[in-house]
Amino acid sequence: MDTQKELFRIGNGPSSSHTMGPQRAAEKFLKKNSDADKYVVDLYGSLALTGRGHLADVIIKKTLGEQKTEVRFFGELFYEYHPNGMKFFAYKDEILTDEWLVFSVGGGALKELNEPRDTHPNHFYRFKTMEDIMSYLTIQKISFLDYIYESEDRDILEWAQTTIDAMFEAVERGLASIKEVLPGPLKVRRRAPSIYGKFQKSTDFNTLVFAASLAVAEENADGGVIVTAPTCGSSGVVPGVLYSYFKTETVSKEMLAKALLVGGLFGNLVKENASISGAEVGCQGEIGTACSMAAAALTYLRGGSNMQIEYAAEIALEHHLGMTCDPVLGYVQIPCIERNALSAKRAIDSSNYALLTDGKHYIDFDSVVTSLKETGKDLNAIYRETSLGGLAKVNVNHD
Ligand code: SF4
Repeated sequence: MDTQKELFRIGNGPSSSHTMGPQRAAEKFLKKNSDADKYVVDLYGSLALTGRGHLADVIIKKTLGEQKTEVRFFGELFYEYHPNGMKFFAYKDEILTDEWLVFSVGGGALKELNEPRDTHPNHFYRFKTMEDIMSYLTIQKISFLDYIYESEDRDILEWAQTTIDAMFEAVERGLASIKEVLPGPLKVRRRAPSIYGKFQKSTDFNTLVFAASLAVAEENADGGVIVTAPTCGSSGVVPGVLYSYFKTETVSKEMLAKALLVGGLFGNLVKENASISGAEVGCQGEIGTACSMAAAALTYLRGGSNMQIEYAAEIALEHHLGMTCDPVLGYVQIPCIERNALSAKRAIDSSNYALLTDGKHYIDFDSVVTSLKETGKDLNAIYRETSLGGLAKVNVNHD
């Protein structure tokens, strides 16, 4: 299982698979073919169907050069390996000099055709399942955090603190934004600043959670800098919960960084054993995973036992199973933005619930991850980030 540094990435929204991934791919291709005088980039499957709304073409052209680059869309062509395929072509004097087929597999990560998803097998973490991790923790009498420290590089806590800072900067930018309308034809209005104004009058915790998670989701929709947690579309859930806790309880940034790492362990397991890509498994893999990570992090902060932390993460993920990905017009706005706020609240409820128990429960985290993967495979393709079905077909009044 990979390092958490590959899970939480700082970068521009609105989509880790449709914006960050293509941007990284374009940067790599440009480095190798800097002397080309023309680039053609073909987008396939989900990348083609929602690429415009997710600004995939804009970021590719910006990276390779507006004048030299043509982006073509082939929405009917799905590779079995992953639905987010793209092929780069480089030309010099009209002669093809290089081509590269690559896939944006979620969270900004790239893979080549048939490349194993985990390129560092067991390099960072010894165990691939929560069952194995839990037995190890029990035998060793250690915490999740101890296991994370054993597994990651020595600077992991410092890195997590920087990541928390980037998350909170996105929250505060979103809360203070004076831009009223988000880009795109839906003309979606930012709500975080006004809801934050209501929090300042009422000091109601839930109002702050809504405001903080919306703030990041709106920044993301505006192409601002956010942290994938685990993706761009779901980037508001974890910071929404952690920021609200930070503002209303006495807790250090170091503790928050530790909590982030505990939450990240659960996100990493979903990434490893199922998928965090909406194009592959629907929104359950994005928002469901984010909710699970936030629930685990919060339960850790509140002093939960290993079993209670695992239970909170399991509840949060279990009750997102089957959630479809159907962004209206392909923009990461409706239902995505609101979904971040509601899932942040659900993460808190999952933590509350788990803390009311001794942590024993019937369905373990690994089983939910397996169900998520199977459910994702069974979901009709129209519900996997193609904007061809579900809410994406609803006629939204945007005047
Ligand atoms: S519906 Fe969910 S998975 Fe799909 S783009 Fe929106 S946040 Fe991402």
